[in-house]
Amino acid sequence: MNASYPHLLAPITLGSVELRTRVIMGSMHTGLEEQPQGFERLAEFYRLRAKHDVGLIVTGGIAPNAEGAVIMGAAKLTTEKEIEHHRQLTDAVHQEGGKICMQILHAGRYAYNPKCVAPSAIQSPITPFKPRELSAEDVEQTIADFIHCAQCAHQAGYDGVEIMGSEGYLINQFLAQRTNQRQDEWGGDLERRMRFPLRIVEGIRAAFPKDFIILFRISMLDLVEGGSTLEEILEFAKHLEKAGIDAFNTGIGWHEARIPTIATLVPRAAFTWASATLKKSVSLPVIACNRINTPEVAESVLANGDADLVSMARPFLADPEFVTKAANDKADFINTCIACNQACLDHTFSGKLASCLVNPIAGRETEVIVKLTDHIKRVAVIGAGPAGMACAVTAAQCGHDVVLFERHTEIGGQFNLAKQIPGKEEFYETLRYFQHQLNELSVDVRLKTEAHSDALIQEGFDHVVIATGVLPRIPPITGIDHPKVLGYIDVLKGAAVGKSVAVIGAGGIGFDVSEFLTHDAKHQGPDLNEFLAEWGIDPSLKNRGGLTDSAEDSLSSAREVFLLQRKTTKLGQDLGKTTGWIHRTQLKRRGVNMLNGVNYLKIDDEGLHIEVNDQTHCLAVDNVVLCAGQESNRTLWHSLSENAPNLKLHRIGGAEMAGELDAKRAIKEGVELAVSF
Ligand code: FAD
Ligand code: NAP
Ligand code: SF4
Repeated sequence: MNASYPHLLAPITLGSVELRTRVIMGSMHTGLEEQPQGFERLAEFYRLRAKHDVGLIVTGGIAPNAEGAVIMGAAKLTTEKEIEHHRQLTDAVHQEGGKICMQILHAGRYAYNPKCVAPSAIQSPITPFKPRELSAEDVEQTIADFIHCAQCAHQAGYDGVEIMGSEGYLINQFLAQRTNQRQDEWGGDLERRMRFPLRIVEGIRAAFPKDFIILFRISMLDLVEGGSTLEEILEFAKHLEKAGIDAFNTGIGWHEARIPTIATLVPRAAFTWASATLKKSVSLPVIACNRINTPEVAESVLANGDADLVSMARPFLADPEFVTKAANDKADFINTCIACNQACLDHTFSGKLASCLVNPIAGRETEVIVKLTDHIKRVAVIGAGPAGMACAVTAAQCGHDVVLFERHTEIGGQFNLAKQIPGKEEFYETLRYFQHQLNELSVDVRLKTEAHSDALIQEGFDHVVIATGVLPRIPPITGIDHPKVLGYIDVLKGAAVGKSVAVIGAGGIGFDVSEFLTHDAKHQGPDLNEFLAEWGIDPSLKNRGGLTDSAEDSLSSAREVFLLQRKTTKLGQDLGKTTGWIHRTQLKRRGVNMLNGVNYLKIDDEGLHIEVNDQTHCLAVDNVVLCAGQESNRTLWHSLSENAPNLKLHRIGGAEMAGELDAKRAIKEGVELAVSF
């Protein structure tokens, strides 16, 4: 066992089932659950994680009946045929010596279904359908459905179930006054509000007195008005213990809460104090989760005594080998989840299959296969941005002989700029991962080397990959050469910027640069107390839902910033589905003036002259920062295609297409190309 992570790698028994490590792979719905042949792919996805020593896998949420499914037709477990599908998952995990529990999730009023149900007929602010109030008879039937679903899970070979009681789903809806305004035996005082989950747990325990794990995901922090109080949560926890669960998993925040709980700006392990609070008043094991993404953080949560196990979900999309790498002293080789949500939750909420920005193989294990080649090729990759790094590493993993050219002094391309944005410090981890892989795989990395066509042709490569990225677009505005105009690269590399600034372009980079400009140079990275205060979270859980009396509506800003775009649509409309609102809220709080429908007239000593709604204005700013998008850098491509028409030339990332470029596409193209050599 690795001495660095003694707590994390220690076995533990839940109920009567022994887990080989204290690492739980948390529940994630991948979308494969609803695909034809999806369970075969899902089996491979789980098999790989089980092979690499995860203590316990918890599946994505599976509904106990049709109306409880998150969207109409989403996965449920009630029939023999469905049991057969699930058996593929349990067999795959057990063959690797792992354990697997199925999460039972009834979405209640969160179900994207006009026939959704809830304790009371109160619509959620994030779904379009008003739920039907369950009758007393329906409530009994739903309890029976949960128990039947657990019986089906047992038949399918699962080692247990996790009852989803947090995040604002049905059980949470019964528990909180916010959503439960019934006056019958299922609503009113706490005793009646908790009757529904307790009956479910008692029923499952009665069906399986032992050898079947029951985890309960308890909401420690609702983060919504009318949520539970600490007193209520702890009282409920005591009843759950008596009802026969084996461990508590902790949930943080309802989906409708306007407080980030897992995005990259949330400090690591930001909520483990909530698990610690629970642990002090119960005797069963407690599982901590949310923004735990490295073995160091996970180990310290356990070593501090804040929890008995840790649950990580997205980190297992990013790297299936997380646990074995930690155990084998290779933590620096872990591909760390940067909490961007771009390929996982943003996909899920857009109806696409979940994958991972840093690991595009996640969820596609049966399709994208990295294996040693019999035909070693000499491969030149030009540009060590995300696309080039991913291509070089994957090609080397396949056994090819790879040279990676980078004209700058360090690898990383634009990620070196991204990592400097306050709240995006996790991007450092991706660079650390690639650096270690490149070293380990002995890729010939030639820094400070601008690749030219003649030299490349002379070296006689079998494949040349153009990953030269993008160049900032310079918009044709009168006065664009004025000394007060700066590019985003200048700003992020430390150019002096005055106290008032206009940012031209409100895409992802315009938003990030505005965030950067509102902080002063002394910004020290994420701070837990600052985060909790900014977002109105009360760690003493005095008020219902764990909210302070008021979140900080306005925050100080190092500069006056105007963020501008020509389109008349809302600024930031195309930012990530699950994170765009956070960026917009942050900038609003820092007083950034956001203007749409802007026509840029000229830049001169006075400032930036614009026209909005047929009115002209001069923004008397010290600097104008250009974030007006990018164009592909194809100089080398043109020169090679002209001078060496027979060369096997490829383009990936920004060099292939600048429009709608992001690191997700860049890395995916790099990996997919490399496995095709
Ligand atoms: P680049 O990163 O541009 O890399 C190209 C590399 O090629 C550079 O290192 C360059 O020096 C090198 N090069 C060029 N020509 C040569 C040559 N002839 N010889 C040798 N080397 C050469 N994306 C996201 O998905 N999520 C985000 O949150 C996000 N945030 C961002 C924040 C900021 C501030 C910025 C600037 C970008 C952000 N991005 C984000 C965008 C993301 O970084 C890019 O989409 C990605 O870097 C593109 O990868 P690439 O490899 O195609 O190009
Ligand atoms: P972008 O998203 O394409 O935005 C470019 C902005 O420039 C737009 O607001 C556009 O708005 C404006 N613009 C375009 N042409 C212009 C012109 N000729 N004159 C003036 N304004 C012009 O590009 P980006 O912000 O450079 O980001 C690059 C990529 O990095 C993006 O695709 C993004 O996905 C990725 N990224 C992602 C994140 C993230 O959080 N996920 C963060 C940063 C970057 P108008 O045309 O309306 O003026
Ligand atoms: Fe983590 Fe981003 Fe990958 Fe999701 S897409 S698992 S948040 S790195």
